[in-house]
Amino acid sequence: MRAAFSVCEEEFESSSARERQFKALEKELADALKLRLQALRDGPRRPALLGLQRDIEDALCGESFVQVATPIILAKKQLEKMSIGDGHHLSSQVFWLEGDKCLRPMLAPNLYSVSMDLLRIWEKPIRIFEIGSCFRKESQGNRHLNEFTMCNLVEWGLPEETRTERLRQLAHVVMAAAGIDEYEIEETNSEVYGPSLDIVQGDTELASGNIGPHFLDANWGIRSTWAGLGFGLERLLMTREKTNNIHSVGKSLSYLDGARLKIN
Ligand code: ATP
Ligand code: MG
Repeated sequence: MRAAFSVCEEEFESSSARERQFKALEKELADALKLRLQALRDGPRRPALLGLQRDIEDALCGESFVQVATPIILAKKQLEKMSIGDGHHLSSQVFWLEGDKCLRPMLAPNLYSVSMDLLRIWEKPIRIFEIGSCFRKESQGNRHLNEFTMCNLVEWGLPEETRTERLRQLAHVVMAAAGIDEYEIEETNSEVYGPSLDIVQGDTELASGNIGPHFLDANWGIRSTWAGLGFGLERLLMTREKTNNIHSVGKSLSYLDGARLKIN
């Protein structure tokens, strides 16, 4: 397809010859998009984003993780427990709603809350995960969406000395489900969690992970070891599909499964 763009560098005998070439190119590109949409209709019938979500769900359930589903609307107090109060600069990235509520910018506060209860009810180890939309006001770019799909998992009750190794194993489970085998794990510093481990490919952050006990745990009255990771599904897809347009793989009115819909 990229070869088609070489026409842009060509010289033409006349403006009508140029016009004809461009029309032909336009049709070629539109036909390719239509074929792609037809392949979706004939084949998986599910956009890659939802296919990836399902693959990760299956992989994590296969590792004895229990899936949870929590509300998208979050109380401000829950975010304050994550140390994101009015003064915190991440607070300006939050979509605030009336009545001290917001659209969740992360899944962690809800997972903390569910974990707090399950830790009373179930024996450890306890493994849970959620996959769902998160919302952040971001300066628009190729790697950020205002609404993106996060997968957040946490395992409670690990032997202390195994936490980092377990984090690596769990990263591998999700990366394998996503079909990405080239990635690195590097130490970094998160504004919310402090020292963290990022899963990256090149300079693209795919996930951030942490181990605990962590100072935030006390806000939910939790005392336990843990390992947890948060992945961005659209970043995983961009990486796997080698596209640099995150908007084409995310939830969209303009794209369906990576193909632009605004074609004739
Ligand atoms: P970045 O530094 O790239 O903005 P982050 O460190 O703020 O990301 P985290 O809070 O660690 O992001 O969220 C976990 C994962 O969610 C990230 O590693 C990334 O894959 C994904 N993610 C975060 N923000 C966005 C966004 N606005 N759009 C798409 N994916 C995102
Ligand atoms: Mg991060």
